[in-house]
Amino acid sequence: MRNLRSAGGIALLAAISLTGGCGLIASSPDESPIPADPTMLAFVDPSTIAGLSTRTITGTRDQHVHISYPVLPNAPGLTDKLRAEVTAELRAFDLAAPRPAPATPDEPHTAKPPELNVDWQLTAYSPQVIGVRLRTGRFTGGVWHDSLCTIWYDRATGRAVDSPGLLKEGALAAVAARVKRELARDGPDVRPGRVRPDTGTFDSMDFNRRGDLVVEFDDEQVAARYLGRVAVAVPNREAATLLSGVGALARAAAQSIPPGKPPPSAAFDRRYPQARSSRAGTVDCAVAKCVALTFDDGPGRYTSRLLSILTEHGARATFFMVGSNVVAQPALLRRIRDEGSLIADHSWSHRNLAPLSSARVGDQLSRTQDAVAEAVGQTPTLMRAPYGSLSPTVVQVARQLGLSIVMWNVDTRDGPDETADDVAARAIGGARRGAIIGMHDVYSATIDAIPRILTTLTQEGYVFVTVPELFPGDHMEPGHIYVSGETTPANATSPPPSSP
Ligand code: ZN
Repeated sequence: MRNLRSAGGIALLAAISLTGGCGLIASSPDESPIPADPTMLAFVDPSTIAGLSTRTITGTRDQHVHISYPVLPNAPGLTDKLRAEVTAELRAFDLAAPRPAPATPDEPHTAKPPELNVDWQLTAYSPQVIGVRLRTGRFTGGVWHDSLCTIWYDRATGRAVDSPGLLKEGALAAVAARVKRELARDGPDVRPGRVRPDTGTFDSMDFNRRGDLVVEFDDEQVAARYLGRVAVAVPNREAATLLSGVGALARAAAQSIPPGKPPPSAAFDRRYPQARSSRAGTVDCAVAKCVALTFDDGPGRYTSRLLSILTEHGARATFFMVGSNVVAQPALLRRIRDEGSLIADHSWSHRNLAPLSSARVGDQLSRTQDAVAEAVGQTPTLMRAPYGSLSPTVVQVARQLGLSIVMWNVDTRDGPDETADDVAARAIGGARRGAIIGMHDVYSATIDAIPRILTTLTQEGYVFVTVPELFPGDHMEPGHIYVSGETTPANATSPPPSSP
């Protein structure tokens, strides 16, 4: 649903997005090369950049925090700046968010605990300049709040700059005045008086394909919430006189973004076969003592090391991946497929899905299915909800998308502050026939624990398979919740027997 109002070549766009809070992702890179709306941005397809990887920061176990940012090749100054930005966001969230008590079986978490979610897009990538747009979503009670921030990186000097660095000395005042004038035409619920010529107000500036300067505002920064995204485009010719050297390079880079691939048709159109381990059928878990290792939140910087360890030990695993990481590293996904492990769906941006509408849940899950299918030619049939947080809506959407819901029955409680010794001890101590062991391939200590887990459990007679192989005929039912391979699918979703 969109409401587009234009005035003298400058548009204020109010869009109510259906993209899981990540306002603009739907706008690209699938837009036509010259979109009608001048505030629409084009984005660079990260899979086209060799050497790009992602970093993930999570909170402590009782926090719903998931931060992802890109690491671009040969741009250490950019990595430092992005890390500093997201660390500041995390610190602010820590101060603002009430800390929930750890969930217990008697008192599970409420459906809407505080949450911090950061993801990213590339708004420019050239030999001269890189633009990274961070979208930060925050829930600390009340309503979800999205904010945007675009960092620019000048490769010649190795320096990262905030968005106002796109402008010449003193030009921010002129841009602010221009933006104010445009906003003033847009009715009583837009407040141009809030526009100040400072870095905080103008922290997200980019260019569209035409080279217009696009200024974006955060939720409720300059307009009532119901107006949704508010952005102003300053036409190319006018903006040209205001740009710094970096700004001119950034504009040229944005104008040269190649048109994106056509939007993938929905995964459930069965264009791609269902994902299956390339080694499925080689182990009979009715006979062998099978166990399934599962890794969430990747692929990340340790995934490749993990794969080498698994392969060395003849082990396979199931990877529940975050879509925004998937698109950055398609070659790594193909390696996972080729080495017999299985790729599964862990949502697009790791939002807590439980409070979201079915449209947003569907978007989070199907976009990741599509991204995996594009990379490896197979559509995932398993999903795990971020934070293990389910709602009837999530279950229903999973069923519609052909996804079985996989939980875990051995919790290694791995995390940023855990040791390899503890993670290994919990995995080994919890292992039993048919177990689904939960871990994360974004923590170094987790990877350090893997050789010990594999060696010890192999000595105990275990065989490491992908999750579907735990079940007869590899059969899992879409929309069913599987906690382990110890129960039949029919039992897995039954309510627990009441006590006598
Ligand atoms: Zn996760």
